[in-house]
Amino acid sequence: MDVAYKKLDKRINSGDIDSMELTTIPNIILTRSCDPISVEDLRAGKYEKLIASMEKAMIKYKGVGLAANQYGKNLALFIIDKKLADVNNVPSVFANPEITEYGRENDVLEEGCLSIPGFWHPVKRSKKIMFKALDSEGNKIKFRARGMLARVLQHETDHINGKTIKDRGQK
Ligand SMILES: [Zn+2]
Repeated sequence: MDVAYKKLDKRINSGDIDSMELTTIPNIILTRSCDPISVEDLRAGKYEKLIASMEKAMIKYKGVGLAANQYGKNLALFIIDKKLADVNNVPSVFANPEITEYGRENDVLEEGCLSIPGFWHPVKRSKKIMFKALDSEGNKIKFRARGMLARVLQHETDHINGKTIKDRGQK
């Protein structure tokens, strides 16, 4: 769900824009579980610069979410689109994400990924989840998510666990 627009995806493939700041498959960093982040480091603002750079990159490439390992850092940290976060009244930065419950109902939607240019794939996911993480200030947060938010959180949490939509082959 990182790329919302196929048009942009084509531009990446044709080399019109520089996507080098993002990691793409088969980079091994995308297949590894990311290192957890400490509350102390978050509180000390250690990742503020990284988060700001990731936000710039996500906007530049019109992503809906971006995980740190897609940006070359093996850290359990991801961001989501600020509008999507605001609409759902949740933060847009998450560390050490965990999905603690998957709802029984699923749906299937075609997803793309900034790390897999040119690949679009129907992915089955839970419509509702319970999500747990730390926010950018190190506070513990837990909330129920549904719809688009639930899908994006599942996609990005997959990245943190070393998985991509290529590992989610359901139709
Ligand atoms: Zn992705």
